Amino acid sequence: MRALILSDIHGNLEALTAVLAAAEPYDALWNLGDMVGYGGSPNEVIDLMRAKAQINVRGNHDRVGAGLSSALGFNPVARAAAMWTKDELTPENLAWLRAVPQGPVWPEEPGVTCVHGSPLNEDQYILSMRDAWAPLQQMTTAITFFGHTHLQGGFSQKEHDWHEIKPQYRTKNEAESWTMAIPEGTRHLINPGAVGQPRDCDWRAAFVIYDSEAKEIIYHRVPYDLAGAQGRILMAGLPERLAARLREGR
Ligand code: ZN
Repeated sequence: MRALILSDIHGNLEALTAVLAAAEPYDALWNLGDMVGYGGSPNEVIDLMRAKAQINVRGNHDRVGAGLSSALGFNPVARAAAMWTKDELTPENLAWLRAVPQGPVWPEEPGVTCVHGSPLNEDQYILSMRDAWAPLQQMTTAITFFGHTHLQGGFSQKEHDWHEIKPQYRTKNEAESWTMAIPEGTRHLINPGAVGQPRDCDWRAAFVIYDSEAKEIIYHRVPYDLAGAQGRILMAGLPERLAARLREGR
C-alpha cells in the first residue's frame, strides 16, 4: 500500500495541486492538519480534502479558523489570516472543519498513527530529539506521522541508537525525492513537511509517500505555481508577509 501523507497545506491551492499530481499513484491520502490559515484558498483546499482524504486530523489553525479556539495565542499576522479564513469559509466547509477529529487518529493500515503536533499533545512542536523522546517511548505504533513544525524530516530510535532524519536533496528548484528504509524493530516520528508554507529554507511543496510493502518512506519536494499562490494572498487582502515568505521557504 502506498499512502500519501501531507500536512500544513494552509490554504495554498497551487502547492496542493502540484503535490497531488506528483504523488500519483497512491492508495490512500492521510492529511495531518492545518488545511487553512495563511493562504488564499481555504475553501478549495477543504473541498479537495473532503473528496480525497481518508484521514483528516485537525490542526491549531483549523481549530481557530473553525471558531473552536480563540486566535489570541496567534501572532498578529496569523490572527488576521485566521479571522479572514473564518469569514471566507462556506457554511458547509465551516461545519465540516469543526467536525475534523483531534489526533491521534489511526488509519486502517496497521502500525501507524497520524497526529498534528505530537501523539501526546496536538499543539506540541517536535523540533528536536529532546521533544521527540517522550513520544517515541509512549506512542502505541512503530510509526507516527506528525506535522505542525513545517520542517520535513523526523526522528528514529532503536534502543540506544537514535537520530534525527533530514532528507538530503541535491537541487533547489526541481522535483526531487529521497528514500529511507524503515528497518524492523525501529520507532519513527515522520514529518512530511508543509505543503503550503515550508519553513526549512526550501520553497518547494513537501510531502511523503509511505510504502508499507517495501517498508520505505519516500520524502518529496515539488515546485509549484508560486506567483499564483502569492497573487491569491495579495488579492485577498491578507498580510504581504504571507506571500513574501513562500519564496524564502521560511
Ligand atoms: Zn501549520
